[in-house]
Amino acid sequence: MVRTRIAPSPTGIAHLGTAYTALRNWALARREKGQFIIRIEDTDRDRYVEGAEKIIFEALEWLGLDNDEGPNVGGPHAPYTQSQRLDLYKKHAQKLVKKDKAYYCFCTKDRLEKIRLEQQARKELPRYDRHCRHLSPAEIKKHLSANDPYVVRLKVPQKGVTVAHDVIRGEVKFENSGLDDQVLLKSDVYPTYHLAVVVDDHLMKITHIIRGEEWLSSTPKHILLYQAFGWKLPIFAHLPIIRNQDHSKMSKRHNDVSILSYRDRGYLPEALNNFLALMGWSHPAKKEVFDLQDFVTHFSLERVQLTAPVFDLTKLNWLNGIYIRKLPDADLALRLQPFIPPGCPDDIFKKIIPLVKERLVTLADFESLTEFFYRDIKLTTKDLTEQSRHSAPDTAKALKQFTHDLEKLSSSAWQTQKLDAVGHAILKSLSWSPRELFMTIRVAVTGKEATPPLFETMEVLGKKEVIKRLNYASSRLRRDFR
Ligand code: GLU
Repeated sequence: MVRTRIAPSPTGIAHLGTAYTALRNWALARREKGQFIIRIEDTDRDRYVEGAEKIIFEALEWLGLDNDEGPNVGGPHAPYTQSQRLDLYKKHAQKLVKKDKAYYCFCTKDRLEKIRLEQQARKELPRYDRHCRHLSPAEIKKHLSANDPYVVRLKVPQKGVTVAHDVIRGEVKFENSGLDDQVLLKSDVYPTYHLAVVVDDHLMKITHIIRGEEWLSSTPKHILLYQAFGWKLPIFAHLPIIRNQDHSKMSKRHNDVSILSYRDRGYLPEALNNFLALMGWSHPAKKEVFDLQDFVTHFSLERVQLTAPVFDLTKLNWLNGIYIRKLPDADLALRLQPFIPPGCPDDIFKKIIPLVKERLVTLADFESLTEFFYRDIKLTTKDLTEQSRHSAPDTAKALKQFTHDLEKLSSSAWQTQKLDAVGHAILKSLSWSPRELFMTIRVAVTGKEATPPLFETMEVLGKKEVIKRLNYASSRLRRDFR
């Protein structure tokens, strides 16, 4: 039974890296009909941010990455929040002390600081000098009965090599002599990440640990812990982490790293999932566009590439446009609900969706692409004559004639085809190019050079509004040549 997990720390935002890791853990569990677990690692109280956990669940729910166990849904290994499991870690730390795999360390902050400075002066790597590893039972007893504060440290073997078998990287070897006697339990009885992650992954029966490569250097410590407890090792896979365009670690400074900010800026979860799926992984059929189900069917750790994926917003925008255009109009209308611009009447909103669907990159673009439908436009003479390439009087005359012919259309005849016919009749009577005439009308009616098809736009705007705008354009022109 495959059981995967993510173990985010609630330190503020729900990070894009969490979605990237979650997607792979989720897909493997779904493909293998196993379970995907979310555990909240909140033992670093200095970095804890109130409410951050809620944001993580909101973000994963938006992406559709559902979990089988976790603080939000419970499960057989509850609680799934580490701060509610402190007794367990303490118990396990004591167990290791009893097995002589770990020891109490009573060194004071001052002493630790002193050895750190000495090591620094000797240009050595800072590490614990293992002073308390050699305390006699009597000395330990004395400290304990004096209630001296202590931490519990792992007795790292001083010789030998710890080998991590990583599905993506193969064998990764770590000299034990390079490892510190890691603190497992702090003096405030909070566990360190290393102890808590190993105890929980074991007790929660996690079979595959799939996480970012920034945790690879912690893996030998974890392996030593599994061995110290006498537990079976899980399968490890360290994913290449997402990079900025300059190949630095993805950060707030370069890119938006909050999952929910993508939602709020009008990206579809389908697009973000597809985009993240393609990071450091390629579809066996070389597909660029595929849904979650397809990803579940084809995802495998063996296909994960080692080269770091680079965050490419252009690609995300491209995918988002594709997913927007795949949506039926009614669905798109639902997705657009949070983006309905102020002042956009409901009937207009529904009518313009098919007109702008082609041009939406994000849902948030809806406003800038459509505001001329329901807000006043502004024009100058130059806006119009630049398009017509005729004098202001001649431009006004052409618009007047067009207006006059439109006025003759009854409201029921106000349809794209009829409007098109009126436009082409005018074109015939003038010696203008189609572009000169229709761009002038377009700018007169919308205030913009790039819009949905002109006559469809005019149909939606309605007779009254179009005539009003054309009159306004003519009046602008006349005011300037008077
Ligand atoms: N709590 C760690 C994090 O914030 C989990 C690392 C792991 O998956 O072991 O990402």
